[in-house]
Amino acid sequence: KQEYEIAVYGRGGVGKSCLTLQFTLSWFMDEYDPTLEDSYKKSIVIDDQMANLDILDTAGQEDAVCEEENCQPDCRKRRRQHGYIFVYDITDRVSFEEMQPLQESILRHRQRQNISSEDSFPMILVGNKSDLEASRQVFFEEGASLAEQLGCKFVETSAKDKVNVEEIFFDLVRGIRKA
Ligand code: GDP
Ligand code: MG
Repeated sequence: KQEYEIAVYGRGGVGKSCLTLQFTLSWFMDEYDPTLEDSYKKSIVIDDQMANLDILDTAGQEDAVCEEENCQPDCRKRRRQHGYIFVYDITDRVSFEEMQPLQESILRHRQRQNISSEDSFPMILVGNKSDLEASRQVFFEEGASLAEQLGCKFVETSAKDKVNVEEIFFDLVRGIRKA
């Protein structure tokens, strides 16, 4: 199986679009419409195996996860993702504090879709904007410790300087393959 549906979550402004565009188009955008939700495809070889990624760049978590008790089967947000990228901004503590509630709300959504809680939940926690060290509000160790709590990998990135951007997607695909 070579298709990987991946969703990027996190509060507005953390750099979801920049990470996605840097990875898919090798391009850093200073300004990108924050309301735009779009998906991007990229095919890469990871560990000698093809991976066709379909990356959903969500536009803020408020509407990224459907909270309707009885959402219909055609609900756009209902579709099952293979893997999740949770992004916060190391210069924005609020964005960090939203990570755990976000995971809980996605888990509730999966429950309503009857995806067993036993099913694996491949995700990676990303602390973006590591180039802005002077404005850092969240220590590396805090990110690492939250990742341990959420049961996932952790990486700090800079979409701007292209640091660890590919690593996010490689790690996640490896996690999905193992799941
Ligand atoms: P989104 O709302 O999560 O999609 O955030 P965007 O990708 O649109 O980025 C929001 C703002 O943060 C933009 O002004 C970007 O230029 C900036 N930004 C994104 N990633 C980085 C980064 O790694 N470093 C720095 N310094 N700025 C970034
Ligand atoms: Mg965006």
